[in-house]
Amino acid sequence: MPETTAAPGPQPAQFDAEWVRAKYNHERDKRMRPEAVDQYVEVTADFSHYADDPYTERVERDPVRDHVQVAIIGAGLGSIVAAARLREAGVDDIRVLDTAGDFGGTWYWNRYPGVQCDIESYIYLPLLEELNYIPTERYAHGKEIREHLQAAARHYGLYDNALLQTTVTGMEWNDAAGHWAITTDRVDAFTATLVAVSPGSLTRPKLPGIPGINEFAGHTFHTSRWDYGYTGGDESGGLTKLADKRVGIIGTGATGLQCVPHLGEWAQQLYVFQRTPSTVGERGNRPTDPQWAAGLQPGWQRERMENFTRVTCGVEMVVDLVDDGWTRNALSLNDPAVARETARLGREMTLEEITEFLFRTDWEVTQRLRARIDAIVTDPATAESLKAWYRLNCKRTGFHDDYLATFNRPNVTLVDTDGRGVERFTENAVVVNGVEYEIDALIFATGFEVGTEFTRRLGFEIVGRDGLRLSDKWAKGMRTLHGLQTHGFPNCFFLGYTQSGVSPNYTHTAEERARHFAYLVSTFVQRGAGTIEATAEAEEEWLTAMNEAGEKAKAFYADCTPSYLSSEGDKDNPHGMLATNFGGKPVEFFDMLARWRADDTLDGVELR
Ligand code: NDP
Repeated sequence: MPETTAAPGPQPAQFDAEWVRAKYNHERDKRMRPEAVDQYVEVTADFSHYADDPYTERVERDPVRDHVQVAIIGAGLGSIVAAARLREAGVDDIRVLDTAGDFGGTWYWNRYPGVQCDIESYIYLPLLEELNYIPTERYAHGKEIREHLQAAARHYGLYDNALLQTTVTGMEWNDAAGHWAITTDRVDAFTATLVAVSPGSLTRPKLPGIPGINEFAGHTFHTSRWDYGYTGGDESGGLTKLADKRVGIIGTGATGLQCVPHLGEWAQQLYVFQRTPSTVGERGNRPTDPQWAAGLQPGWQRERMENFTRVTCGVEMVVDLVDDGWTRNALSLNDPAVARETARLGREMTLEEITEFLFRTDWEVTQRLRARIDAIVTDPATAESLKAWYRLNCKRTGFHDDYLATFNRPNVTLVDTDGRGVERFTENAVVVNGVEYEIDALIFATGFEVGTEFTRRLGFEIVGRDGLRLSDKWAKGMRTLHGLQTHGFPNCFFLGYTQSGVSPNYTHTAEERARHFAYLVSTFVQRGAGTIEATAEAEEEWLTAMNEAGEKAKAFYADCTPSYLSSEGDKDNPHGMLATNFGGKPVEFFDMLARWRADDTLDGVELR
């Protein structure tokens, strides 16, 4: 953990790398907490109600005792795409399970006002060509995404055998029978030849471990369980019941950005408690142009999706099909910018020159974002507080067209905690810097559990061959082959972000993994095998490749202000995103999987 560095003097008129570094370090160090991910409160025991489902009435049913070919745990986007690709590969006997009352995953849970996709909907909503659907706007809102995912689940017949409102409590491999035994909180006890575990990576709400969190007697909820009974309105806004309420919101990440404008519009008084500002780029949402949609040729979605990932990871430098904030930032910050500078100089740059050049171009991008704040926010002190001082990719980049202007409203106050976070709660107030802000309701936009053990986030134990527990096997971090299989756990697959290449567009990652999963399962079926399992040697090799690729990402995040991406500054956390994902370019990972399938030798995977 770095020592807290001194605050630099006033900002020089021109770019000064030394000053910028000192400023970034100072802002980072203020935010470092020795507890790292343990600073958050788990939503169990006294806090378990924060994870209750406010959207679907519980329906009683009889326990299920049968056998299915494939059980998929999780009914979110990744599971739906995986099940779709399985069905297309001819595998029909699929059962999807989820705690939620319907399909949708993160889009089932997140229904806060203003909820919207921050990746272009034409590449984020999966299976558009398969369903012959075009989203109505460039950045679709949550309801449309949820309904599309549910339409996809219907299209692929996933409702027929699904167990919703059902939480898996355990999963154990039976070697003699060659199947998994699965138990649930509905007293189900069924078996499955193959299982896919797809819990999502930002699923379990987390709360800040702020002293007095149990003492606050006003109304509280987490953004992923929005209480419209209390606020009135719906996902599109209209929070009329807040007209006489003083509301506090903690959290200014991607979620905070989207719901603060609605809270500001309707609450009598809104306090936004900020620890670290997000960057807020222009969104520029617009309705879909029907003429553009009519001209799309078959295969367009995959082409666009692949192009976006190639542009954002610096591989494609010429054709930018999406052309939005994500791709424009990437083109000015990564390899394309270096290529342009090299051409301008007429010679190769040294590594040191490249590092300095990229540091400066990053500053230029964030400087434009700071200027945007000055242009929109009228109170100079508030504008200053809203400025982010870290490299753009240290945190998930934010985009919104109404967030900043919300702070010009007379009923909205930004409470800048200057990196320290909220001090404590009393029965009726939030305390920052010794000042008590009295409120009626407190909303936690504090994000989701990241960087804790996989099985803790999953909520149940997986017991493999010879009683091997996954929590023991992964106690010092995940061990997989290509992120999908782990030795000792035959016929078990992992979907989502487990040792995978990461595109900013999660749907692309999900799609590539779904293809690989469907290939493995259909090969298993075609060859009439009883078990499919990664070898210990192949797993070891993948771990080495993962660790090598991860070093560059770790070095970048060491200089960053903390976030869930860096396990709150604990970059060596074996359960964090840096350790559990492929740190190289996502397309290297996707291309490697495609080559592996094309070889058709199942290198490192044993069929028996
Ligand atoms: P985040 O984890 O990004 O943000 C949590 C917020 O809570 C941060 O601002 C954090 O501050 C703040 N916080 C935590 N503890 C305290 C404290 N003690 N005092 C004050 N503030 C505190 O969660 P989000 O829900 O905003 O977003 C999570 C992710 O979900 C996004 O990064 C994105 O990947 C995804 N998402 C995607 C959307 C989409 O459109 N596709 C929309 C919304 C979310 P600090 O920054 O200092 O830690």
